[in-house]
Amino acid sequence: MVRLILFGPPGAGKGTQAASLCESLAVPHISTGDIFRAAISAQSPLGVKAQTFMDRGELVPDEVVVGMIRERLTQSDTSSGWILDGFPRTLAQAETLDSLLSELDQSYDTVISLKVPDELLVQRMLGRGRKDDTEDVIRRRLQVYQEQTAPLIDYYRDRNSLQDVNGTGDIKEVTTRIQQQCLSK
Ligand code: AMP
Repeated sequence: MVRLILFGPPGAGKGTQAASLCESLAVPHISTGDIFRAAISAQSPLGVKAQTFMDRGELVPDEVVVGMIRERLTQSDTSSGWILDGFPRTLAQAETLDSLLSELDQSYDTVISLKVPDELLVQRMLGRGRKDDTEDVIRRRLQVYQEQTAPLIDYYRDRNSLQDVNGTGDIKEVTTRIQQQCLSK
């Protein structure tokens, strides 16, 4: 049983690392960004709501995200554990997650904070060619991260839950670091 929160700025490699860790740990990968992208492709009401925010590099409003996460974390496949990728992104989301988990009689094991210098983040995002990866939107996403998401570092550090991991280098190197620093007990 493993329950992890993968935390970091946009472009830090959260999605890539979450995908490989989920495969080796056999737990679901819960990415709010992926859920929104799937909803946009399906043109569902959730997708329509999320799209304008995502296209601008803004955060989707908390009540939308929180409702979606509540629904996802109460599905049966989460009984084996989970890795959260891209959630929480605001203090309100972190607080709601804490109360939701206590309601579900669950807790997370650790918050992995992927550290990557800004220049490399921009380079990585420009390289992946996603629709919301234009230079203006990338800049806005980094600003939104600093303003609204970075404060979570203190939130989790105060709870002794944060583990910093160097997110530079190739994908496998970073996965190995996470496994050695955070998952070998
Ligand atoms: P990501 O794939 O994690 O980079 O997320 C892509 C976009 O989806 C973000 O720029 C936000 O617009 C939106 N998004 C994803 N997760 C969240 C969240 N937890 N809170 C608010 N917006 C989110």
